[in-house]
Amino acid sequence: MIELSVLGSGSRGNATWISNGTDSFLIDAGFCGRELDERLAKIDHSLKEVRAVVITHDHGDHVNGAGVVARNAGAPVWIHARNLSKLKKRLGKRVAFEHFTPLMPFAIGSFAITPFETPHDAVHSAGFVIESEGKRIGYATDIGYPDPSVIAALKECDVLVIESNHDEEKLRTGPYPPVLQARISGDEGHLSNNQTAEILRAVDHESLQTVILIHLSAENNDPELAYRTAEAVFNRDSVEIILSMQEEPTARLIV
Ligand SMILES: [Zn+2]
Ligand SMILES: [Zn+2]
Repeated sequence: MIELSVLGSGSRGNATWISNGTDSFLIDAGFCGRELDERLAKIDHSLKEVRAVVITHDHGDHVNGAGVVARNAGAPVWIHARNLSKLKKRLGKRVAFEHFTPLMPFAIGSFAITPFETPHDAVHSAGFVIESEGKRIGYATDIGYPDPSVIAALKECDVLVIESNHDEEKLRTGPYPPVLQARISGDEGHLSNNQTAEILRAVDHESLQTVILIHLSAENNDPELAYRTAEAVFNRDSVEIILSMQEEPTARLIV
């Protein structure tokens, strides 16, 4: 059994709880410690249970609470070496760090976690494939385009947690200045709903049971549009699509 909840996702903070009952960890900690504890309480957990914090990349919406959480929980931060040299001071002293290397699996308790590189304008950016008890979860956020290596990494997953950041038309006609629009839609920016659908089409297989859409833009997306674009990929009801939210954790998903 793996339990998973996206505690919150969007440009104002990202964190995801993953547990197999024995070992529990967070992917990203982009909220302050108190906020994360409150969100964990909503799914009947607490920061005390966190055994590790795994960092996708160095942007504030993914790391802002990582130092506090790691210190309070006595948990190490798993991070790519290039992000560590940038973040070490910010995450603070008295935090234990562990390095990961793309495509080299590492263990958190009985979880096997394989990082893979993602195209994004960070010092280094990674997604993860998380395996335990024969189940496989793909986690991919902040991705510029449907990179074939990302698609290859996300094959054969039972659950996909994947960015669906913006609608191309809403971004183009929305409030963001042209420079920011170009950054978001560029090859080191974020996935549009259509690009997410392209990845989903490429990795779809009969055991895929759940897709959780994350990092939806409040300004440049519409949750219903994101949902419908992903839903249209699948010609069967056995794939459940869940929308994450910025303000609230998703209900606990049991895999
Ligand atoms: Zn980012
Ligand atoms: Zn982000």
